[in-house]
Order: sequence, then C-alpha cells, then structure tokens
Amino acid sequence: MSEELKACPFCGSNNIRPAQVESGTMCRNCGTESYGNWNTRPIEDALQSEIARLTAENDKITTDIRSFRMVEVIEENARLTQRVRELEEEVKESNGLLRSTYQIAKRDGKDTNWEAFRNQVHIALVRQHEQMYGEESEEE
Ligand SMILES: [Zn+2]
Repeated sequence: MSEELKACPFCGSNNIRPAQVESGTMCRNCGTESYGNWNTRPIEDALQSEIARLTAENDKITTDIRSFRMVEVIEENARLTQRVRELEEEVKESNGLLRSTYQIAKRDGKDTNWEAFRNQVHIALVRQHEQMYGEESEEE
C-alpha cells in the first residue's frame, strides 16, 4: 500500500520517513514518531470536514443573498420606472387641460395673464381636492 504520508501534524513538514521494521513513521524535521497509522487524524479530519461543510453553506447563503437582493432591486427599479412614466403622463395631461382651459378663457375675454390664470386654476383645484378628500367639508 503506497498511501502518501500526510504532513507532520506538529511542524507541518513533508519530510516524513515511512515506518521501518523496528520504528514507526517519523518526521525528519521535528522527530515526531507514530507507531500507529501516521495518516489517521480523527480530530483534524473532523474539523476539516466541518470547515468544508460550513464553507459550502456560506457560499450558498452568499449566492442566495446576492440573487435574492438582485431580484428585489430589479423589481423595485421596474416599479419606479413605471411610476415615473405614469407621472410624466399625468403632467402632460394636466398641462394639456390647463392649456385648453386657458385658451377658452382667452377666447371668452377673461384674464389672460398666464401666471394669474395658473394660480387661479391651482386654487380651484386645491379647493376641489379639499371638497373631495378633505376631513371637514366646508359649506358656502
Ligand atoms: Zn514534524
């Protein structure tokens, strides 16, 4: 059996002399000698296998976290992009309504000062909003 001898557990040297007829396996560097199986290291083997298991688990968790957050970020980005488009449409619509209303007012000979007109419309919209959604409804 030509099993490769592991490094010395005490000094780490690979200079290991195989077992002889009258002596055990020995580290030529520090002199550690074993009469049993030099390669049998139950505690070290158990620890190494536990390290390998935990490393694999950690890699899996890291991958899960990355992919999970990626999906979350992509979904949030899509949602926000959609909301921005909706709001841009609302702004366009609102400006269109404002322009039409202004043109009608101008045609009817009403106040054609754009700034004043816009403020009037704004006040009217706020009043309307309060009537529709306000906590307390005021009667005039
Ligand atoms: Zn040694």
